[in-house]
Amino acid sequence: MSDWDETFDVIVVGAGFAGLTAAVEARNAGASVVVLEKMKAPGGNSVISDGGVAAAGTALQESSGIQDSPDLFYRDMRKAGMGLNHPALVRVLTESSAEAFQWSADYLGVQYLKRVDRFGGHSVPRCYAAAGITGATIIKALVKKAAELGVPVRTATSLCTLVTDERRVRGAVIEEGYNVRKKAGTNTKQLKAERAVIVTTGGFGADVPFRSIQDPRLSEEVDTTNQKFATAEVLVELLRIGAAPVHLSHIQLGPWASPDEKGYGSGPLFADYIGFLYGILVHPLTAARFVNEQSDRKVLSEAVMEVGSPCVCISDQAAVTRSGWNIDRAVRKNVVETFGTLEELARRYNLAAQPLSRTVECFNAAVRRGSDDQFGRPILADSPPIQHPPYFAMRIWPKVHYTMGGVRIDDRARVIALDHRPIQGLYAAGEVTGGVHGACRLGSCSITDCLVFGRIAGKNAASASHLGG
Ligand SMILES: Cc1cc2nc3c(=O)[nH]c(=O)nc-3n(C[C@H](O)[C@H](O)[C@H](O)COP(=O)(O)OP(=O)(O)OC[C@H]3O[C@@H](n4cnc5c(N)ncnc54)[C@H](O)[C@@H]3O)c2cc1C
Repeated sequence: MSDWDETFDVIVVGAGFAGLTAAVEARNAGASVVVLEKMKAPGGNSVISDGGVAAAGTALQESSGIQDSPDLFYRDMRKAGMGLNHPALVRVLTESSAEAFQWSADYLGVQYLKRVDRFGGHSVPRCYAAAGITGATIIKALVKKAAELGVPVRTATSLCTLVTDERRVRGAVIEEGYNVRKKAGTNTKQLKAERAVIVTTGGFGADVPFRSIQDPRLSEEVDTTNQKFATAEVLVELLRIGAAPVHLSHIQLGPWASPDEKGYGSGPLFADYIGFLYGILVHPLTAARFVNEQSDRKVLSEAVMEVGSPCVCISDQAAVTRSGWNIDRAVRKNVVETFGTLEELARRYNLAAQPLSRTVECFNAAVRRGSDDQFGRPILADSPPIQHPPYFAMRIWPKVHYTMGGVRIDDRARVIALDHRPIQGLYAAGEVTGGVHGACRLGSCSITDCLVFGRIAGKNAASASHLGG
């Protein structure tokens, strides 16, 4: 194809964490860069995320007396991923996590809360929350940096097809004036990539037809935390040109979601950040605990689905105070409800009062002992027993949250074909790739993934040669 409308060294498709990070690094490495984004604004799922980043071996961990290492982080990720993670990719992520986190703070200027949290499956606290507990904090910093560097972010511009020649990606056919609802744009253009195209189009959690091919249980009846347009069309395009698919049927359900609100909502801040750390999750019929609430997302979601109807997450005022999180919004929306006594709470959720009281007593004894003999859950040193009203409770039912699968990349973020060779001129990073997380992604690890592999993709794409790379 010779009639190109415009030429750039590097074309980045998708303006979430991975894409904007890649664009900044490609520009810093001297390339001319454009970012294409199908929506009217940048951000994707990244902007609606909680902005939680996991990193091992940070200064904040050290000053908080937390002993961690990239190797321990690696082992946690492999354990949650059931060993399906591609080891070289996990090594890169875990060993680069502290540097990427620091880069986001120092170079991008992202503000983080001065606290280190622990989520299910991480063996030590290693998760940092962006100010405001929102990914918008990081997206704003990335958009600002891209503007400072003179990288245009073209919104309402969708990738239709990748232009290939032999086994090399040469550019992209795009639609401008794109309307995601109509799935149509106003005009088509052909952009040439002198060096490379970097695909960072995110996951397919909201693409019901595509996700139900991979996992037929995930029909339209299962809600998702994702933005509506987290769909698979670019992943399909990558497969069309020969990229190897990895783990497409491994789709993560968020076990801290509420059936009493749409999408991600306000409940997870209570369930994930407070309830599963200090409180309990009980079976709706027996009022008994049935799982280690600090398990990874796969174990927890499967345990709840096995129960077959919404379970109840319970905590108290001491836990809310201890956590330091503000759950007013969830309470205002009645997603989290408050009760003066456990009996009232039991009545509201149709739980048998006596068994509930025994469950709480038994858990409180475990907290006092400092060990949970029943489910082996780690008890945090400063855990208060559940005995300080008001009591807080939320119904729990999992929602599609993250797609572990995607295209295969190597440790240089090159997209790998089914013949195990890189597709020349093509890089990918973020949720559109597969293999990093295996069967289950740990909390806060996607943003780390996007930052680490986005940086790698940007730098390598900028130096990819016309003939190879
Ligand atoms: C509610 C919620 C909370 C979360 N909280 C956390 C958290 O705290 N920590 C964590 O680690 N992870 C979290 N995650 C997961 C994490 O946010 C995502 O996995 C991550 O943001 C994905 O980033 P990305 O850059 O790969 O994709 P995205 O941010 O989704 O960006 C992809 C972009 O590509 C665009 N695009 C798609 N197709 C095309 C096309 N054809 N042409 C042009 N553009 C296209 C999309 O519109 C989108 O803007 C959360 C997810 C959700 C939904």
